[in-house]
Amino acid sequence: MWSEAGGAGAPADRRPGAAGPVTAFRGSILHFLDDPGEIREPTGAFEYFEDGLLVVRDGRVAAVGHASALLSTLGPDTPVADHSGRLILPGFVDAHVHFPQTDIIGSYGGELLEWLERYAFPCETRFANADHAREAAGFFVDELLANGTTTAMVFATVHPGSVDALFEAARDRRMRLVAGKLLMDRNCPEDLREPAGAGYEASAELIARWHGRERLGYAVTPRFAATSTDEQLRLAARLLDEHPGVGLQTHAAENRAEDRWVRALFPWCRSYVDVYDRFGLVRPGAVYAHCIHIDEVDRQRLAARDAAVAFCPTSNLFLGSGLFDLSAAQRVGVRVGLGTDVGGGTSFSMLQTLNEAYKVAQLGAETLTPWRAFYLATLGSARALGLEGAIGSFRPGREADFVVLDPEATPLLARRMARATSLAERLFAWMILGDDRAVRAVHLLGRLAGPRLREGGA
Ligand SMILES: [Zn+2]
Repeated sequence: MWSEAGGAGAPADRRPGAAGPVTAFRGSILHFLDDPGEIREPTGAFEYFEDGLLVVRDGRVAAVGHASALLSTLGPDTPVADHSGRLILPGFVDAHVHFPQTDIIGSYGGELLEWLERYAFPCETRFANADHAREAAGFFVDELLANGTTTAMVFATVHPGSVDALFEAARDRRMRLVAGKLLMDRNCPEDLREPAGAGYEASAELIARWHGRERLGYAVTPRFAATSTDEQLRLAARLLDEHPGVGLQTHAAENRAEDRWVRALFPWCRSYVDVYDRFGLVRPGAVYAHCIHIDEVDRQRLAARDAAVAFCPTSNLFLGSGLFDLSAAQRVGVRVGLGTDVGGGTSFSMLQTLNEAYKVAQLGAETLTPWRAFYLATLGSARALGLEGAIGSFRPGREADFVVLDPEATPLLARRMARATSLAERLFAWMILGDDRAVRAVHLLGRLAGPRLREGGA
């Protein structure tokens, strides 16, 4: 693809026929082409170039490969950012996060239902104020970017203005984002509740205003089955039927008390997941957070319907919800992404989320290889969101969202890295010891982004 415009002599960004400006980024480059599964030394699932070059044209990947092969194809004036010694990989994709809950991250005490009452609901009522929503949205997306997260699937609040604020913040930064307004018509504070029909209308208006605009996508967002009536779940399915391409995000089988409550509210159901399925909500484009307390029938159903699950280990441990069975999900072929679930989750960092994901696997007598971990945080989550055609890898034509990881971000990380003898060992050190400090630079559509423009990060 690159070589078509690769005549020597003229500046790359001025040549007749060139589609637009070209920039290149040199460093170690890793990206995944497929799920490496649990194979400890997978081949074919990823590409790695120790001294690699990522060539970007018009914000998209034009080529990726060995620097020795690609440098000679660049025009003489093509800028090459040097990240030698660092790792360039596709931007992280957070498959499940709540932007209004940024302010209550790290709030002490209680399991899910108590935590919602004590912290989440009061915090979300403040988003009736548009100024507060705008300020919080700006902070939230900048925090995502500071952590190397270039795309996220995000819950707003019931207030349409919270969705507007979030999409505006993402649009202003040229960031790819999926979000939706909460739907709740029972079992929540009165000022967060609305009739099912009103929630339907407000969602439809937001879809018309935002879905498919620039890099933004909408997801219909019932909080969870316990806060929606039958009518609201029916209308959620209607929104999906009426707006092809719009996604769905909600929670399922996170906590045992929640699971019992949902079964009591829908006594006809076989299981929590079955509630959603009966309303036609288990379908492609749907992302279910948690799915800890599910059985094999649920798992098969999720796989058969091509719905995805967001695995949120920091949240699951913090709220004492339980241990997600990643291996069982993989065995039946469920799409799995990785989510921070801030503010029940305790970090915006996908590296720290991988740290906890590894421990969850350990407690389940399984393992999470560094290969699969970084797959989950990039292409795996992109697939969960149905966005693998746009982001998640460096296949030519993909949007050039990427992160540069620094192996010497802290003295301890540098010391550990100095003794690492393989890429797998280095990846594992990053996911266990790394956090936002390890994120040297973040690029959206090939351009430096984020609030932290560090020296050498161009
Ligand atoms: Zn959540």
